[in-house]
Amino acid sequence: MRSLQDKIEELTSIPTKNVTSNTDNGALNTLMATLIDQASNSGKIQERFVIAQESLVKMKEQSKKDKISTPIENFVKNVFTDDGSTQLEELPPQIKEIMSQSQETAALTLDLCLHKQRTPAKPMIGFIKALHKGHYSYETGQPGGLNIMSIPHTLNGSGQENCNINQLLAAESNKDDLSSNEKKILNSSTISPPRTINYAIKMLSAYTSVLKLGGEDSFIFQSADDITEWAKENEQILSDNTTHFDKSLPTKLIYGIGDAYNSYYKMAKYAVPNQAWLNLEGFKMKLLTKQHSILLPESVQSLIDNKRKREDKKGGGGGNNNNHNNNNSGTGDDNNQQKKFKVENHTDQPPQLKCSQEMHKKVINEIVYNIDNYDFTCPKNDGTEECLRYALVGVCNSKCKRAASHTSIPPNSARFHNMLKFRTKALAEYNKNKKDGDQNFV
Ligand SMILES: [Zn+2]
Repeated sequence: MRSLQDKIEELTSIPTKNVTSNTDNGALNTLMATLIDQASNSGKIQERFVIAQESLVKMKEQSKKDKISTPIENFVKNVFTDDGSTQLEELPPQIKEIMSQSQETAALTLDLCLHKQRTPAKPMIGFIKALHKGHYSYETGQPGGLNIMSIPHTLNGSGQENCNINQLLAAESNKDDLSSNEKKILNSSTISPPRTINYAIKMLSAYTSVLKLGGEDSFIFQSADDITEWAKENEQILSDNTTHFDKSLPTKLIYGIGDAYNSYYKMAKYAVPNQAWLNLEGFKMKLLTKQHSILLPESVQSLIDNKRKREDKKGGGGGNNNNHNNNNSGTGDDNNQQKKFKVENHTDQPPQLKCSQEMHKKVINEIVYNIDNYDFTCPKNDGTEECLRYALVGVCNSKCKRAASHTSIPPNSARFHNMLKFRTKALAEYNKNKKDGDQNFV
């Protein structure tokens, strides 16, 4: 304090005419003059200095209590950038709130937010801890932490459905006695792979709600919102692809998106990540056209396999686990699963059969999915069901359950006439139920 006062006195003693002689520095001179004027009242300056000092100490104490370290703060500001090139100036208030609260309060806040956004989900303990501590990323191939699969819509089959997470977290922080089972839940960073596209979409929606806490203008929220909307719009195609080609598709979808976010988070530790890390356009297209090449890591694959085994033991496919069982009833396709994925084109497809992707979605899928409402059966050839996608869209892949029918349909053959009849009937049905604004197909 002493030395500051000395400095101020020194400043006061500088002859003002030397300073003011340079007319180019008008603004600087005014500032100097103000400073010198203030310095003559050094008592007030001292008072201000003390106040500043006190609030600095208070701030330090507060941030110690908040336990948000500078690197973590920078990381979070990078993650929620709103222009893709600069850090946020402040921590997003709602994220800061969750990080500053105790874990169990943070869990309650999160729960409230998910309900407010109408995306109820039960985040796993690992998810809450990751959000609370600002540790969003995970080891490649080991989804955990802030992965989308750690925020299931319900916790069917994960062993956590009957436990109160807030109570567990509170008990942990109070060092209360916990049963070994509870300890296991607390320490596991389990994820719950989605079994259906509908379930995957619910996970995505919940995840998007969490990212919204970082600000609606943040690039990462907008990208999550976009991919969620996309999945909703394409739910039918994706479900169809799951049913007919790859029953692990819901998990692969979430795993692939999660991987993109994980890379983004990893970048954010060092700098504002490039927006290109969250560019999922190519990925979306590949999922729709079944040309993706996502391989699940062993850790995730074994989770799916175990779940399947458990469900089979329960007598699987029953009507009571209604969250999960829309489309995994198929068995005996293991041979197809092992076959190498190959795109198969319908060569020399008769033009009369041709359907666009859009028409397949709106007209043909409508029939396939509401088969009970219509008098339709899938056309067969020698008792084998025709692959509608191959016959009509003209492209499918070797893992398709109906791959046996992936052979060129000759014009004017019996197969051709059957398919054409089916196509015409489906289109007539579509046109009958068409509303204003619905697309026209021919
Ligand atoms: Zn097919």
